[in-house]
Amino acid sequence: MTYLADLHLHSKYSRAVSPKMTLPVMADFARQKGLDILSASDFTHPLWFKEIQMLLEEAGEGVYVLKSEIRSTKFETNPNDQNLNAPKEVLFLLSTEISSIYKQGDKLRRIHNLVFLPNFEAVERLNKELINRGCNLNADGRPIIGLSAKNLLELILGIDERSLLIPCHVWTPHFGVYGSKSGFDSLEEAFGDLAKYVYGIETGISSDPEMNWRIGELKNRSILSFSDAHSPANMGREVTAFELEKPSFENIRQAIMRKGEEKNKVSYTIEFYPEEGKYHFSGHRNCGVSFTPDETLEKGNICPSCRREFTEGVAVRIEQLAGPEMAKEYKEKISEHGIKWHTDKTQNHPPYVKLVRLEQVIAAGFGTSPNTLKVKSLYAELCKYDSEINILLKTPLNEVEKIAGVKVAEALSRVRGGKIEVNAGFDGEYGRVKVFSDQEKAELKIAAKVEAPQLSLDI
Ligand SMILES: [Zn+2]
Ligand SMILES: [Zn+2]
Ligand SMILES: [Zn+2]
Repeated sequence: MTYLADLHLHSKYSRAVSPKMTLPVMADFARQKGLDILSASDFTHPLWFKEIQMLLEEAGEGVYVLKSEIRSTKFETNPNDQNLNAPKEVLFLLSTEISSIYKQGDKLRRIHNLVFLPNFEAVERLNKELINRGCNLNADGRPIIGLSAKNLLELILGIDERSLLIPCHVWTPHFGVYGSKSGFDSLEEAFGDLAKYVYGIETGISSDPEMNWRIGELKNRSILSFSDAHSPANMGREVTAFELEKPSFENIRQAIMRKGEEKNKVSYTIEFYPEEGKYHFSGHRNCGVSFTPDETLEKGNICPSCRREFTEGVAVRIEQLAGPEMAKEYKEKISEHGIKWHTDKTQNHPPYVKLVRLEQVIAAGFGTSPNTLKVKSLYAELCKYDSEINILLKTPLNEVEKIAGVKVAEALSRVRGGKIEVNAGFDGEYGRVKVFSDQEKAELKIAAKVEAPQLSLDI
């Protein structure tokens, strides 16, 4: 059975995270979005770990559910959930993100890693070991430690050999293991002889799988995608679909290790357009200038406005690390629902699809911002019909049209087919999706005003 997993989330105890990020709310939003397995996140934080232990009970080897007295009997966020094949309860894995800041060579390294442990006891032991090493776990749900990425991996494997470490958002300039500012040129360089225990990486929003397929050392590793959500609305913006015989820590581990064969494997991932990420192109936010990889190659990495070095984008960084022998071995395939699937010609990696959030699709259909009442109420209507991910991937367009109108159905059709434009993000500024051209948008605005003069379109 297929399980959609979002294994990079944060609790209300992490910096800049919504106070709504509690386990029951996360479970409710998971149902609405169509997610089956979540990260319980931030287990290094003492107060949050107490909450995890209080609210969760084991539902299988290494997977947890909300205790029955906390589970809502009716899924209020999506009462019409028809997805009967989905597992009855949202499952949680015990996980956290750790920021390692340390010196290696003559360079300051700042690397973020996701850590997964199979049970409460292992979490207790890790937390104790980190405190013994002088780490302040109270300060942030995503703690900063002085331990190197390699020493952290060594520590968790010593606690339980099944532990997993997944370097996350690997290409971000400041915190990714491949980051241009404070990362490394290879996993080998970062983890030394323990690199063989790093079975997968998280792409992050600014890169998509086919960019990662070009990195030689990722050939036999899993390319995973999760949301890094700091609020419930952002959960599921990137997702990894696992095919699992039954959900358990070991089966998920086998899938990530690529040892589970057909029974336990990563079957596909759902991605943002990488251009939407904050660090896709090189540039300067304050100067309002960005360069594509080709422009960088031609003109260099210096800002024409302030003459200082650009913040290097992921697209350029990948070109630096991609092996020359790793040709762009991919092709595109349109499925029965009009979805453009990106597939690896060599079939070494699972396929993926690029999507846009449903609220953005609806907003595009009305030529308005996603924060309007109209968009929010239609989003809720559609989520009564099915989960957000099912609406985006599976619901027939004529059904979408019945609920949300012809323009939203057209916007969804374009998103599914990849017929959209994205202005790439750079230097911390998110990219922008354009489903309709400026002229089409102007026409939509006029049409919306004529059809529904009582609605305020921009709130
Ligand atoms: Zn991070
Ligand atoms: Zn994070
Ligand atoms: Zn500049």
